[in-house]
Amino acid sequence: MTDTLLRSVALPDLDADARVRADDRSHVFHSWSAQALIDPLPVAAGEGATFWDYAGNAYLDFSSQLVNLNLGHQHPDLVEAIQRQAGRLATIQPSMASDVRGELARRIADVAPDGFEKVFFTNGGADANENAVRMARAVTGRRKVLSAYRSYHGNTTTAISLTGDPRRWANEPGDGSVAHFFGPYPYRSAFHATTPEEESQRALEHLEQVIVLEGASTIAAIVLETIVGTNGVLVPPAGYLAGVRALCDKYGIVWIADEVMVGFGRVGEWFAFQAFDVAPDLITFAKGVNSGYVPLGGVVISERIAAHFDTVSFPGGLTYSGHPLACAVGVATFEVFERDGILERVRDLGKRVVEPHLRDMASRHPSVGDIRGMGLFWAIELVRDRGTREPLVPFNASGADAAPVTAVAAACKRGGVWPFTHFNRVHVAPPLVISEDDLGRGLDVIDGALDEADAAL
Ligand code: PLP
Repeated sequence: MTDTLLRSVALPDLDADARVRADDRSHVFHSWSAQALIDPLPVAAGEGATFWDYAGNAYLDFSSQLVNLNLGHQHPDLVEAIQRQAGRLATIQPSMASDVRGELARRIADVAPDGFEKVFFTNGGADANENAVRMARAVTGRRKVLSAYRSYHGNTTTAISLTGDPRRWANEPGDGSVAHFFGPYPYRSAFHATTPEEESQRALEHLEQVIVLEGASTIAAIVLETIVGTNGVLVPPAGYLAGVRALCDKYGIVWIADEVMVGFGRVGEWFAFQAFDVAPDLITFAKGVNSGYVPLGGVVISERIAAHFDTVSFPGGLTYSGHPLACAVGVATFEVFERDGILERVRDLGKRVVEPHLRDMASRHPSVGDIRGMGLFWAIELVRDRGTREPLVPFNASGADAAPVTAVAAACKRGGVWPFTHFNRVHVAPPLVISEDDLGRGLDVIDGALDEADAAL
């Protein structure tokens, strides 16, 4: 802990711990949870890749707070940007022009592919997807949207309907004009493919069939997480995204790339699709754009779509669109990325440190079925049996059924690492500013924690 942080928090502080727990449990209604069954950890402070609870325990944050905190906790440049902006102009309505909103939009356009000049700002990722779909519907005059099973796109009406995971189920019926398809997942191919090339080709044939059977002339957009995040860090095999581009062109469909989790450096690119040499029509972003210091998301709009709204009103808006505090942190984020070579650092750490470490774990732990990822975004998929690939815990398991993965997570926490676990996987997604030592130390803790998964076989 630095001196400044030490002065602002004196830990342990067990009275504060009790107070925070009591207020939280009495009055805070939490996301995605049965309220009586949860026990959220009270967090006192954070710095870089580490945060502390009130008992004084330090955790290396291998979840980046829902894969959000790309520049880590309390980055001094980001904190200062908020303070500076708050001292001058804390808020302004979206129909007025502001310097930081304009500058951030320009900087985003500068790193987007050619032909992307305009940015519509939202409060987060769900409303970015919601508004991107609205744009696609307005431009094409069509209503239907296709999205993949094993995806998450947010928790507003259309975004949760796009979502291809169990979080959608209790929210149905939502937007009635959404249909789902299977994306590529080489380790668990829905197409009985045996190579990534076959997977890519068969997934594209399947997508084209879905387009035709759903009625190409009714489909406004295909929404895809460029690399599927919460549902498994599924990196598309070579050729898949280029094939999606070709299908969208063939049938006049808008391709919306959901970059909410993978954009802004998570895989060593400004936008993950840039690693695959393709470009969508709309890009949605949030999280890493300003590490979530102030809520911000948005849609980067290609010329063809932007031009439609030159003379036709866009039917949407948000009071906090392009909030000055959020945009000021976004501008500071660009400065840190460029000054500190964050993209290069992420590519290097991913290849040189994470990948070999995970490969080594996979060779020693029989519970590890697959490892995959890019940059500082990886998943370790746990299985009961490598031959059959039966998942270590059943799909969507909770409570006792999820015990082996809960045990891995608990062992990580005992070792001082806050993990991101989902279903039968442990994800590795630390802040992009993590030191090489901490990255290695955190991976060692996960390595040790996998003994719990091996013990459950
Ligand atoms: N899209 C993806 C890929 C996400 O991972 C998320 C959130 O995790 C969202 C959209 C929704 O973003 P938000 O929670 O900011 O609405």
